[in-house]
Amino acid sequence: MTAVSARELTSQLPKHHLSDELLMDYASGALDEAASLFVSSHLTLCPHCRARQAELEALGGVLLEDLEPVSMAEGAFDALMTRLELPEAANDADAALLASKTVAGKILPSPLRRYFGCDLQDISWQKKGGGVSVAPVPGIGDGSHAFMLKVEAGRAVPQHTHTGNEYVMVLQGAFADASGTFARGDVELADGDVDHQPIAAAGEDCVCLAVTDAPLKFTGSSGWLLNMFVKM
Ligand SMILES: [Zn+2]
Repeated sequence: MTAVSARELTSQLPKHHLSDELLMDYASGALDEAASLFVSSHLTLCPHCRARQAELEALGGVLLEDLEPVSMAEGAFDALMTRLELPEAANDADAALLASKTVAGKILPSPLRRYFGCDLQDISWQKKGGGVSVAPVPGIGDGSHAFMLKVEAGRAVPQHTHTGNEYVMVLQGAFADASGTFARGDVELADGDVDHQPIAAAGEDCVCLAVTDAPLKFTGSSGWLLNMFVKM
């Protein structure tokens, strides 16, 4: 695997995006709180997915027009439109963070910052050994788990596969695995078919937002990370 400097990757726009299925589930309000936070955080950082979501919503509007009109409960239309709105944070100011995160001084996307009540540097981490730390996102309701994952520059996460879905988005630094290199804003979806060993790029600790709907299952000898997820 080629060594990639995190610094080289910081100023690029995301290359690994959300699926149409996930964008549509988000627009229709079908996602639970942790998954919604994940999508809104990515939209904050990704002009490509914001444009794609607008296309999908326009398509959804055309499909609705083709249906026979039915009477709606009072307020239902407003409720639908509220759900379809992009997050308040999805604006050019946040996209500009990609180009120069230090000028704007913010690393966490604003939807995520609202949960923590602070930016990255003030998060309290729980050290898990092996260069890995975690911080659960506070205030997330029932359903999927959302947490921050920090891997020291140049360190590897033990080989593992997944019993459910795991979404990971890089917020600082970068990591690489068999499927490619992931830098700020990039999304990786791992499911039961993926058996991977992510390695953090040199130069800067890799910090990710992770959302899982089931514990990870370790294929190697070390079970420490599995225990960490189960107990969280
Ligand atoms: Zn995207």
